[in-house]
Amino acid sequence: MGCFSPRLMGFSRATRDELARIIPERRCCRLAELAGLAYVDGNITPEGYDVVVGQAAAARTVYLLFKELYQPYMEIKVRHRARFNKHNLYMIRIPHQPQLETICNSLKGVQRRYVLGRWGRACCRRAFLRGVYLGRGSLTNPRKTYHLEIVFDSFQQAAVVQSCIETFSLNPGVVQRKNHVTLYLKDGSQISQFLNLLGGHTALLRLESVRVVKGMRNQVNRLVNCETANMDKTLEAALRQVENIRLIQEQVGLESLSLDLQEVATLRLEHPYASLRELGQALDPPLSKSGVNHRFRKLEGIAEELRDGGAKPSSDSTG
Ligand SMILES: [Zn+2]
Repeated sequence: MGCFSPRLMGFSRATRDELARIIPERRCCRLAELAGLAYVDGNITPEGYDVVVGQAAAARTVYLLFKELYQPYMEIKVRHRARFNKHNLYMIRIPHQPQLETICNSLKGVQRRYVLGRWGRACCRRAFLRGVYLGRGSLTNPRKTYHLEIVFDSFQQAAVVQSCIETFSLNPGVVQRKNHVTLYLKDGSQISQFLNLLGGHTALLRLESVRVVKGMRNQVNRLVNCETANMDKTLEAALRQVENIRLIQEQVGLESLSLDLQEVATLRLEHPYASLRELGQALDPPLSKSGVNHRFRKLEGIAEELRDGGAKPSSDSTG
């Protein structure tokens, strides 16, 4: 875990850039991600099919996904957006060509399924949401406040994406503004889970580190700068433990763990910044620091297996 330095690059942009670098392995997910981007930023025009995005990273993703899926002939245009001085608009155009209809139909097929609430595989839903987020999402620096939002042109789009997010047990709010509809998450833990779904693991860790730091009431000022956070190996280890436990929780459930591992996992989630000694003392009967550490190593092993390919954790481990 490196230096968390949102100062070097905007938190929102760093998150988007990280997400844009993910190109899913499966074809189904690639199509779903492109369908997500096209859902919010794509249009059939007299010239063909255009996807217009406001960020270079999103444009690159659109281009790569089209290329991987269909190898179409494409045109890319960058337009300076006079109204909002700072940003450019990027247009990826698929001009008329024999496979244009196939491309449009397969994108529409995915979108129609989601509009009808036929959600299908989780891998594809995540990719779809990543596409939507790349096109329209942003994140406030969590040091200021917890706020993630996605801006839509229509209420229907917002409602579909809201329902899709709800399939992962998250509860985004939707608010209608003058010319657009905004979907938002305001809870640190929900934002963190959402980033995890999208595959933004660096963003997630950065957010978590801020959340942990925020939780350390007496040490906030000492810990907010990078050097101190880097020096604090205990904090890094704790974050790693939380990450492992979340992974296990999400993929196989904490119930799949032996009772003693469950106990220490639950305790860690409740006290993400407690030291091993403090955790040990909170157990009944109390456990030594090295005993607690031993359990975290086992959790680490299980999480590693899951990362490597989803082997089931052995349920016979003992503390
Ligand atoms: Zn998939």
